[in-house]
Amino acid sequence: MNKIQMNVPLVEMDGDEMTRILWTMIKDELILPFVDLKTEYYDLGLKYRDETDDQVTVDSANATLKYGVAVKCATITPNPARVEEYDLKKMYKSPNGTIRAILDGTVFRAPILVKGIEPCVSNWKKPITIARHAYGDVYKNSEIRVPGAGKAELVFTGDDGQEIRQTIMEFKAPGVIQGMHNLDSSIRSFAESCMQFALDSKQDLWFATKDTISKTYDRDFKEIFEQVYEESYKDKFEEAGITYFYTLIDDAVARVMKSEGGFIWACKNYDGDVFSDMLSSAFGSLAMMTSVLVSPKGVYEYEAAHGTVQKHYYKHLKGEQTSTNSVATIFAWSGALRKRGELDGIDALVDYANKLEEACIETIEKGEMTGDLARITTLENPTVLSSEGFIKAIRKTLEEKLA
Ligand code: NAP
Ligand code: MG
Repeated sequence: MNKIQMNVPLVEMDGDEMTRILWTMIKDELILPFVDLKTEYYDLGLKYRDETDDQVTVDSANATLKYGVAVKCATITPNPARVEEYDLKKMYKSPNGTIRAILDGTVFRAPILVKGIEPCVSNWKKPITIARHAYGDVYKNSEIRVPGAGKAELVFTGDDGQEIRQTIMEFKAPGVIQGMHNLDSSIRSFAESCMQFALDSKQDLWFATKDTISKTYDRDFKEIFEQVYEESYKDKFEEAGITYFYTLIDDAVARVMKSEGGFIWACKNYDGDVFSDMLSSAFGSLAMMTSVLVSPKGVYEYEAAHGTVQKHYYKHLKGEQTSTNSVATIFAWSGALRKRGELDGIDALVDYANKLEEACIETIEKGEMTGDLARITTLENPTVLSSEGFIKAIRKTLEEKLA
């Protein structure tokens, strides 16, 4: 069989622990036999990040800006325990945070639906994609514990000396206060990413805030979304037959539960944190989610939504058999290869990526799956496969489809 040729390399960001093991298996079994793979390789494994003082993470993000498409393996975000475990020079920042800051993007996460893994919400027939704003609000706040009676104020001092002052509360007794912010530029790029993604995937876009209560802060989000829509996307949406829909967050939640899915739900940072976990668990499993960072600069980074599956890795190191689900990592590869195929006009690569995804789904629907799915499937007598056995089963299905 002739291998599919590529023109422009993918940016390959290798990672840590069990997902790093899966990474090699996926390449060897599911990609290299079929595609003449071209990648520019960056080792984001913690050891090499430490050796390069995390420069490799910055380099990989810059390479993504250059080439346009990256595929990323899950990586460890160091905490004090990891600093000790890996004898690190320092407690590096989250690689995802570093990459996001350079690409200026929004993260889109969608469940992968298969028959036999049914959503808890029975009317959800199509995936619901969460688009989470990844900057500011409560994640970059200042908080004060108020010790007793006194006046709390919100003060802005401009570089030009202008002062804006508002009373938050005349405290008579102890309590708490919080200050948070966002930036018009960040909200604008969030809106642009969401609208571009809605166009690319031909799905309606929903956005919700609480602007009836938060008449300045949330209103800013609402207005910037409206501006971006009117200025740059209205005509394109109409042409594509999709809609932009704004509502209040509580109304959105009620509608989501009654919907049949098939849209993108843009969420402010905190709402996205909460509702993406609700959606992924309601749809089945974190290992059955796709995740892509879309930048308004027109570049894409595909990854799995879950972590490095540390517990399975330690079992693997002890020589015990693991049953780790590789679907999210395979979909990161297929997503990136399909995008490369679309950008470079290589139909065979697009077709291969589609078939690889179908092969994953069909393998599970045949009853061959990893332990996490076997525990929740409605299929009778599923076959529980090892990490490697599952990838080999997908290869068999893929070969039948490509023959
Ligand atoms: P995790 O890797 O997401 O795993 C948590 C648990 O979820 C696992 O122990 C396993 O449950 C289940 N699970 C997750 N993915 C699975 C899969 N593919 N197949 C089967 N089961 C799966 O989270 P963690 O173990 O708490 O975190 C490990 C490391 O990942 C941390 O160092 C963290 O910094 C990093 N992390 C990275 C990213 C990223 O790079 N995108 C995201 C999150 C976390 P059972 O043990 O019950 O089987
Ligand atoms: Mg969370």
